[in-house]
Amino acid sequence: MSAASELSLGGRYLMGPGPSDVHPRVLKAMATPLVGHMDPKFIEIMDGVKEMLRGLFRTKNDLTFAVSATGSAGMETCFVNLLEPGDEAVVCVNGVFGNRMCDNVERCGAKLVRVDAAWGEPIEPAQVKEALGKCKPKLVAIVHAETSTGVLQPLEEISGMVHDAGALFLVDTVTSLGGTDVRVDEWGIDAVYSGTQKCLSCPPGLSPVSFSGRAVKVMEQRKTKVQSWYLDLSMVRKYWEGNKRVYHHTAPVSMIYALYEALRLIFEEGLDERFGRHRRNHELLREGLEEMGFEFLVRPEYRLPMLNAVKIPAGVEDAAVRQQLLERYNIEIGAGLGEFAGKVWRIGLMGCSCTENHVNMLLAALRQIMK
Ligand SMILES: *Cc1c(COP(=O)(O)O)cnc(C)c1O
Repeated sequence: MSAASELSLGGRYLMGPGPSDVHPRVLKAMATPLVGHMDPKFIEIMDGVKEMLRGLFRTKNDLTFAVSATGSAGMETCFVNLLEPGDEAVVCVNGVFGNRMCDNVERCGAKLVRVDAAWGEPIEPAQVKEALGKCKPKLVAIVHAETSTGVLQPLEEISGMVHDAGALFLVDTVTSLGGTDVRVDEWGIDAVYSGTQKCLSCPPGLSPVSFSGRAVKVMEQRKTKVQSWYLDLSMVRKYWEGNKRVYHHTAPVSMIYALYEALRLIFEEGLDERFGRHRRNHELLREGLEEMGFEFLVRPEYRLPMLNAVKIPAGVEDAAVRQQLLERYNIEIGAGLGEFAGKVWRIGLMGCSCTENHVNMLLAALRQIMK
């Protein structure tokens, strides 16, 4: 067999639900020559990643690092390490990722209690309170930024209820981290996971996670082995923590370089400046889209800045417009997921894809296509 043709890609503007555009400095970092995963120099880079992740999550949690796989593996890491067969868990569901959490709970052999809200609406604290009155869960899980609907979920009030009930609070920040404030310690979050390819503007492949002392204690008091060998933190921790590191699996060295550089870029910009940029460009996009007659799916006070869900106007062909955006203008936007397939577009303004130029380019392209 002869060799397949050389890779020839690029030039796309990634304005969907992730991955987002990656900064050239991150791509350059990935081309850094490899060192061994036990090399003292590499351990220093890992420590830098941990320290910067603590800054980004706004936490003092010791157990803060990046799982070697995408955001879904961060989700699974949280559930398989905290739940044992027979435990009870409450999951709040208002979109695709809440449903994915439910699947995780069931696969752990735990008893699932669902709290459902309509897609496009947040979970109301009263709903959680009601559920907590009827069960005694080990944890309550919720999505901070529901990428399938564009809803930003307020967390503080729910967190208080969860702790009053003696449960752990588990939060998905895959789409929020790096694009809007995530305050792990202040908001009483016990277990949190994210992903690199959304507002961190890094390729997909790592999942930042952090665990409170309470969560760590729960893991240390397990009676059964974690069902997943790869994600068992009692072993993974020994590679990420301590003076003498113990091999568990070979770290994805180049991805850690990438995350290190992406985090450096975030702190060079400054968190407040970065979150402000996401809000400003969201407003710019909103104005432009509303002028064209688009309607947002989510009420203003619950809208995510980095994931704009808009209803597809009557008479506009979903797939045809997205195809033209891609082929004529090199712009990718996201289709609707689940019950919103064919009804909603999801326009991402994440990390390096969140610029005035991206917004203006997309608006101009949409005007041309829809003329
Ligand atoms: C993207 C996403 C995930 C899954 O992350 P992958 O990197 O695709 O595995 C989980 N939760 C939310 C809210 C997401 O947006």
